[in-house]
Amino acid sequence: MTTMSNTRRGLPLTSSRIEKIFPKLTPAQIDRIAAHGRIRSVQPGEVLIEQGDTSVPFFVVITGELEIVRPFDAYETLVTVHGSGEFTGEVNMLSGRRSFFRARATKPGKVIELDHQQMLTLVQTDAELSDILMRAFILRRVELIAAGVGDIILIGSTYCASTLRIKEFLMRNGHPYSYIDLECDPDVQNLLDSFKISASEIPVLICRGQLALRNPSNQQIADCLGFNESVDQTHVRDLVVIGAGPSGLAAAVYGASEGLDVLVLETSSPGGQAGSSSKIENYLGFPTGITGQELAARAYLQAQKFGAHMLIAKATRLICDRKPYVIEFENGARISTRTVVIATGAQYRKLPLENLSRFEGAGVYYGATFVEAQLCGGEEVIVVGGGNSAGQAAVFLAQTAKRVYMLVRSAGLAASMSRYLIRRIENSPTITLRPQTEIVALEGDNHLNSAYWRNGRTGQTEKHEISHIFVMTGADPNTHWLNGCMALDSKGFIKTGPDLLPEDLGAAGWPLTRPPYLLETSLPGVFAVGDVRGGSIKRVASAVGEGSIAISFIHKVLQE
Ligand SMILES: Cc1cc2nc3c(=O)[nH]c(=O)nc-3n(C[C@H](O)[C@H](O)[C@H](O)COP(=O)(O)OP(=O)(O)OC[C@H]3O[C@@H](n4cnc5c(N)ncnc54)[C@H](O)[C@@H]3O)c2cc1C
Repeated sequence: MTTMSNTRRGLPLTSSRIEKIFPKLTPAQIDRIAAHGRIRSVQPGEVLIEQGDTSVPFFVVITGELEIVRPFDAYETLVTVHGSGEFTGEVNMLSGRRSFFRARATKPGKVIELDHQQMLTLVQTDAELSDILMRAFILRRVELIAAGVGDIILIGSTYCASTLRIKEFLMRNGHPYSYIDLECDPDVQNLLDSFKISASEIPVLICRGQLALRNPSNQQIADCLGFNESVDQTHVRDLVVIGAGPSGLAAAVYGASEGLDVLVLETSSPGGQAGSSSKIENYLGFPTGITGQELAARAYLQAQKFGAHMLIAKATRLICDRKPYVIEFENGARISTRTVVIATGAQYRKLPLENLSRFEGAGVYYGATFVEAQLCGGEEVIVVGGGNSAGQAAVFLAQTAKRVYMLVRSAGLAASMSRYLIRRIENSPTITLRPQTEIVALEGDNHLNSAYWRNGRTGQTEKHEISHIFVMTGADPNTHWLNGCMALDSKGFIKTGPDLLPEDLGAAGWPLTRPPYLLETSLPGVFAVGDVRGGSIKRVASAVGEGSIAISFIHKVLQE
């Protein structure tokens, strides 16, 4: 870790790109920003942003100095100090979510102030400044995540499935947090005592030093962090996108950038299945590959830059017998919209084992990201499945695991996996392929410690002392919540465009003289894109393509 130069006070940085993280704006750039907002004086001690404020203003220092601090209890940690020509903010500046920090003037001076909307207009209209600001915001967030400095503390245990779930939720939402492990940190008891929490109640999330949530659900975490607060849920939207995987994010980026009023609903975190991919190597434009999470984070930011709003909430019902359509959430709240893009993807298939749920997150995982790889470094692991996602996971885990056993039901990989991955698996000395083999039993107490697998050809069963299994065996569509609103195929995927037969349209009561557009379902103005659509190609690029294409037809529907 390189520390900041002597001239800069605050947290140490992991990156040497200090001039990109804290760029100094030129007088011409400052003048252009000033044209969007107002110039005002500040006095020493004046708090310009308080921790927890939403839709906070953006400040550029003309003269004087602003310090950014993280308050906790009676203490403050200095995050950074902005001098003249520098500006405040990180990724929350675009989303309008709560500020992690307090911003305070330390000297008399002058600043430019832009409110949240003026700030969005600036990044949407000034390409040069958009580049500088967006890059700085992203790099600052990366530094906060690396330093574990945000507005929350997670107290948990490495051996606890719920701790892993919360860590993944925070990581995939790009939210920085400090982590204290019950097993390793001697001072944890003092902290638990101060919030009157017993060790048996972990994992515990402490929000802004005040609220202690015991084993919170994803929705409770989202509420506590104010993820949904900056979104107006009362007016009728042009478009609601349900699901923030690659297809939903693409629809959000294209919709918002083309002037539509877009709201995205996502159950857990942006990225969908792609977000759990350790490395996507076949997506156009990334010759050295990109992690699913990085791709998702960039797309999410891009959607926000163009003004799309995001709610962390699960859609549980589409009310389709009236217009505008109404979408109901898990907590009973409702939102109205003229058009809908369903981008809810598919859900992982599970192993048919009686005690599986006991080990989910405690030895059985459905994604192979950096978080899981850290848990099993130097150990033997199993990857189940013969598709591309299983292949990627095996290759990724082979970098840190002692051995990766790849179990596939078929006789080999050729039919189900891309050639480049098969070659890597064949060339990896750490990966052992076991064809025609299935897991038949799991054993363990709080954590998985053994797996039994059976060879279908010989009928032989073997026991292996292995504590980590990655299940990558395909997925079923997330369409159960649609309640008969539209035609589905025999496997539950949504039928669209030319796949809708006259009898499908008849049964659905298609009311228009025109046939459904490409990607339109049997419900006018409701589109389905990506993995949830019948006949879709299960790839990131096709999902992104479909999400983007749907927008051009939504413009037509909105004009009808
Ligand atoms: C581990 C792994 C690796 C992969 N690697 C590659 C690769 O290298 N290259 C490639 O091209 N493809 C890859 N794929 C496939 C690719 O990720 C998918 O085809 C793609 O993610 C599909 O995108 P989607 O937006 O249609 O759906 P998804 O990615 O499945 O996203 C759907 C989203 O909808 C949300 N959702 C579901 N129900 C609701 C609801 N009721 N309310 C609100 N939100 C909801 C989910 O939480 C999810 O975030 C991989 C898949 C996996 C699992």
